Amino acid sequence: MSRVIGIDLGTTNSCVSIIDGGKPVVIPNTGGYKTSPSMFAISQDGKRLVGHLAKRQAITNAVNTVSSSKRLIGRRFDSPELKRAAEYFPYEIVRGENDDARIVISEKTFTCPEIAGIIVREMKRVAEEYLGEPVSECVITVPAYFNDTQRQCTKDAGRIAGLEVLRIINEPTAAALAYGLGREQEEKIAVYDLGGGTFDISILELGDGVVEVLATAGNTFLGGDDFDRRLAEYILHEFKDAEGVDLSGDLMAMQRIKDAAEKAKCDLSSLNTTEINLPFIANDADGARHLNLEVSRETLEGLVVDIVKGTLKSVEQCVNDAGLSPADVDHVVLVGGQTRMPMVQASVSEFFGQRPHKGVNPDEVVAMGAAIQGSVLASDDRDMLLLDVTPFSLGIATFDGHFAKLIDRNTTVPARKSHIFTTTRDDQSAVKIRVLQGDSNVATDNHLLGEFVLADIPQASKGVPEVEVAFDIDANGIVSVSARDLATGKEQSITVNATGTLSEEEIERIIRDNESYDLPTAGK
Ligand code: AMP
Repeated sequence: MSRVIGIDLGTTNSCVSIIDGGKPVVIPNTGGYKTSPSMFAISQDGKRLVGHLAKRQAITNAVNTVSSSKRLIGRRFDSPELKRAAEYFPYEIVRGENDDARIVISEKTFTCPEIAGIIVREMKRVAEEYLGEPVSECVITVPAYFNDTQRQCTKDAGRIAGLEVLRIINEPTAAALAYGLGREQEEKIAVYDLGGGTFDISILELGDGVVEVLATAGNTFLGGDDFDRRLAEYILHEFKDAEGVDLSGDLMAMQRIKDAAEKAKCDLSSLNTTEINLPFIANDADGARHLNLEVSRETLEGLVVDIVKGTLKSVEQCVNDAGLSPADVDHVVLVGGQTRMPMVQASVSEFFGQRPHKGVNPDEVVAMGAAIQGSVLASDDRDMLLLDVTPFSLGIATFDGHFAKLIDRNTTVPARKSHIFTTTRDDQSAVKIRVLQGDSNVATDNHLLGEFVLADIPQASKGVPEVEVAFDIDANGIVSVSARDLATGKEQSITVNATGTLSEEEIERIIRDNESYDLPTAGK
């Protein structure tokens, strides 16, 4: 039987792990790195590149290099988050057939699950090279705060990569699994996960082989990228002030500034000041201009303090939802590269009144947890039970535009709730139902998962027909809907037109398209 790999499909970096000798092991790529950039590019000579190879050519080929595409996955083209991303990303983003966001590089249009699939396929290749055997099954992690559409798209990415996705698990839950391995005592832990593009907080209870998520909260559009952006804007502004030159329209200069901002941000986690030197950043009638700027940790902290404070609001909500106070939490685990920033660590320490646990590697622990879950599923290990929750309430839109909740946020999954629908007009033969995820009372403020029509309702006076609709959230956090006419007991087949996900035909077409591309190995 082939082994199940655990994949952390990150916004910035991805990582793959397997269980070897009973312990999770992170697999290095061909270049020896334990994580690979979640980047994909088509080079100027038409080659498809992934991982480090894509990153290395990003400055000179910015428009054809895709980074941070996880920020777009499962989002509608019209969403405000997408508009913000489009302003910042050098590559072109267009509307897809399903109102989803698609990416155009080298005149070819890619869906987001396809790009994610290319990155997953690279992780699969890394694992196969290490194991010397094919791999066919995996567990993939997602931010706990991913909605149904984003989860479906991630599952599709696994299929596109040629893998069966045994389970989608939440990143903080995966981290808790890896943290809890071998620990006997009962404890409540908080996992604070700030990566490149997403933020999650989960409170879990561990003990006796059970890992139970008590509550989760977060923001799928907040992460290290936002810190980089603030610093990049500061650098641009300082350069304009000093030199009178606006570099914002110069793609190559912008890419160099973004890279330098990220590097400076990381340096400032261990240094108090750092130098940014970008020679020949501009050239005009007065000759070449060079960008030289000293940035202090204090300056960076001033630029991002509101973002860090914003995460603590979610932390507070999560602790409240878990029915706890900060002092009830025994340990705090930090996950995601951005938690290396001292101000982030200090803010989390202050909130919980304790220093975070230092025993886990924030870049690797999520993939390790996914591998642990993979081996549990493969061996049907009944000694370990994982109980996760749904991050959002699930419900339907009412006539007057309100949101009627059926399953509350933080309900343990799998969960099922049924609801009886009837007609509001005499002889009405069909009812349209809009399924939403979110927590606002106003229907349109929530995420529309899809809509379906209950048809062939027998003729009757209004209020008489009774159709029972059941809403299911499975262990992956993925929603399905079924319906039954109570008078006849007949199952109603319904198709939910999920917004933002790919159709079966599209997935198959993408799989066929990608079969012909053998990517050069990353990290070489
Ligand atoms: P992840 O999604 O967990 O791979 O986290 C990636 C994010 O962590 C990126 O925004 C990185 O810039 C950021 N990061 C990595 N190392 C550091 C560091 N030493 N200090 C601050 N941020 C970091």
